[in-house]
Amino acid sequence: MSHKPRVLVVEDERTIAQAIAARLEAEGFAVDRAHDGLAALERAAAWNPELVVLDVMLPGLNGHEVCRRLQADRPVPVLMLTARDDEIDLLVGLGVGADDYMTKPFSMRELVARIRALLRRVERDRSAATAAPNANGNVNDNVNDNGLRIDGASRRVWSEADEVHLTPTEFDLLSCLAAKPGTVLSRESLLAEVWGWADASGTRTVDSHVKSLRRKLGADLVRTVRGVGYALEIGSAPEQGL
Ligand code: CA
Repeated sequence: MSHKPRVLVVEDERTIAQAIAARLEAEGFAVDRAHDGLAALERAAAWNPELVVLDVMLPGLNGHEVCRRLQADRPVPVLMLTARDDEIDLLVGLGVGADDYMTKPFSMRELVARIRALLRRVERDRSAATAAPNANGNVNDNVNDNGLRIDGASRRVWSEADEVHLTPTEFDLLSCLAAKPGTVLSRESLLAEVWGWADASGTRTVDSHVKSLRRKLGADLVRTVRGVGYALEIGSAPEQGL
């Protein structure tokens, strides 16, 4: 019997929670449900889910706070469900630390696809981290003139002397940009590379995560090239014998 990834579904609207759980179970996931924030934290601590689907609007402890506390406890990928499209920027601004966002109503097919993509990414990162330093070949462990240092093996980042805590998705996005400093990467290519999506339907997700990188690492770090994409701004190129 193959491994069934454990997914915790946190949603107070029971019909929605039930529908998500039923679909995920049919797709081969092990699913548990929680209907409020505190129950979600207790369940996560006891069950160690590999991914959490988290609705923002919850009674009592809201989704932001649940996400923060989940991440403080141990890193777990969080896919957040929002009621409105413009809520995503707000959540990113708050530094909630979710890895992906979907706006209701969403298709179950897309939810499953995003969950699979997120789990694949986490698995890929884990094997890259345990293999050898810089084994994935796209993380520079160096200090550039912005004082940014990225350690691909431990997946840690420092700005000057201070360690900066990034979510797994923020780290992947930064690594991707840092692999080609100064080069403009399109939203579509970042989406494909970091999120593993082939289509370009979620390019706003890229924008949202760039926003959170800027908030954590400084507004000037990532340059927007209007109509094209993003580039990591560096004082000068890292010394790699270019
Ligand atoms: Ca809700």
